[in-house]
Amino acid sequence: MKRTALVIGNWKLNPQTIDEANTLATTLAKKLKKGDGTLVAIAPPFPFLSETGKRISRSRVQLAAQTVSAEPMGAFTGEVSAAQLRNVGTEYVLIGHSERRAMGETNDDVTKKIVVALKNKLTPVVCIGEKERDGQGAFFSFVEEQVRSIVTVLDANTVKKIVIAYEPIWAIGTGKTATAADVKEMQLFLFTILTKLYDKPTAQKVQLLYGGSVKADNAIELHTEGGMGGFLVGGASLKAEEFLQIIKATDSK
Ligand code: PEP
Repeated sequence: MKRTALVIGNWKLNPQTIDEANTLATTLAKKLKKGDGTLVAIAPPFPFLSETGKRISRSRVQLAAQTVSAEPMGAFTGEVSAAQLRNVGTEYVLIGHSERRAMGETNDDVTKKIVVALKNKLTPVVCIGEKERDGQGAFFSFVEEQVRSIVTVLDANTVKKIVIAYEPIWAIGTGKTATAADVKEMQLFLFTILTKLYDKPTAQKVQLLYGGSVKADNAIELHTEGGMGGFLVGGASLKAEEFLQIIKATDSK
């Protein structure tokens, strides 16, 4: 049975005002009424989480956060805890986004964040992906290493609760997209790793997303031929119409 697709919009450090955030959230909420179809989440910056949550509460758009502290509470200035995120209605949290890894987040931090997120009933959306593609395929070993480091702490029942977003760094915000064939190859590769580490039924339950310059004009092909369970979208999620078209593309099969 095909699982329902998931599309998450990562707003990153945008927009700059709460009015713009509210307008974007309200526009999406009006078009995405509760009911069947692709699961949708948006990840606004922290200061806008609560207000955005109110705007989408009667729609099928859910709230996501862009990161979370590895620490549950205490003297960690500037951090935001999983319990705080959950308390304002957050459902998903991005963990290990390449832009966070570039600021020093390690695989070890990623593992701790997954644990604290799951404890607080947040769905971790764990980002992986290579910096560049070499002709010899060494990037496959890099990706495998990232997957192994993520799952070391997760048993078969728990790994089903996470989402893995394959986001090749060279494709993020660059306009360069992996081809649908590249995405398909990676989906099969991830499925094989998870099958080796667990078993086939478990691997089938782990939702896989693709992210990296997904736009309205490449979403249908990437979705129908790429074989992933949806998308993590950056830049294009800031334009309501384009984001809606990407969501629609995942309803297309
Ligand atoms: C992202 O930020 O996760 C992302 C995929 O960005 P973009 O769609 O802009 O490449």
